[in-house]
Amino acid sequence: MRIAVLSDIHGNLPALEAVLAAMAPYDAVWQLGDIVGYGPQPNEVIARLIDEGARGVRGNHDSAAIGMLATEAFNDEAAAAIEWTAEQLSPVARKWLAGLPTRAEDGPFTLVHGSPRDPMWEYVYSVGVARANMARFTTQNCLVGHTHVPMLFRRRSDAVGERVAPGDDDPPLALDEWRSIINPGSVGQPRDGDPRAGAMLIDDEQGTVEWRRVEYPIEPVQQLMLDAGLPLRLAARLSFGL
Ligand code: ZN
Repeated sequence: MRIAVLSDIHGNLPALEAVLAAMAPYDAVWQLGDIVGYGPQPNEVIARLIDEGARGVRGNHDSAAIGMLATEAFNDEAAAAIEWTAEQLSPVARKWLAGLPTRAEDGPFTLVHGSPRDPMWEYVYSVGVARANMARFTTQNCLVGHTHVPMLFRRRSDAVGERVAPGDDDPPLALDEWRSIINPGSVGQPRDGDPRAGAMLIDDEQGTVEWRRVEYPIEPVQQLMLDAGLPLRLAARLSFGL
């Protein structure tokens, strides 16, 4: 089965359409949360995911946009975008978000937004944080989002840990005896200096994972954000992938 793994779509429909088109054909879509927040088309993105039969988890922005998490913990721009999103969400979209779990398991994969230790807030950026989280899931691999940066942490039985920054030109990576924490990067708001939409493809028969970067039309998204009155800096950063 080929599984398209998406995270941090953040209401960016053209980025979502671009990664889905680039990864087709696939058999399933998994998403790791932060479906909404920042971007201008939250309802459209949710409708597309429902259409795809996507399974997955809820992130901190999703939770805040439906009133399940306070906005005080977010910076001003993020909070402004969450408040705008909360006003836009249709009853169907709101209900769908509320029904998502914060943690899911499928075969050798655990799915969370932040980390298995703290699905809402923890960022898995360092080997130390990854190591501390290895004991917090029982499957072989854990898929995380939240940092908006493609990344892989893995650990063998000898407890050696390593961090790998995967490139989109790298050949598919074999998931073998290692336990791994894997981040596909962000579809709708990359933060690694590459503005292209990021996503990942798992082939669970081959036991491989590969990262993809896909160009999408950024300017129309920025225009929609400005028209909606969303913070200027949130629109500008899409051009830089930061
Ligand atoms: Zn996010």
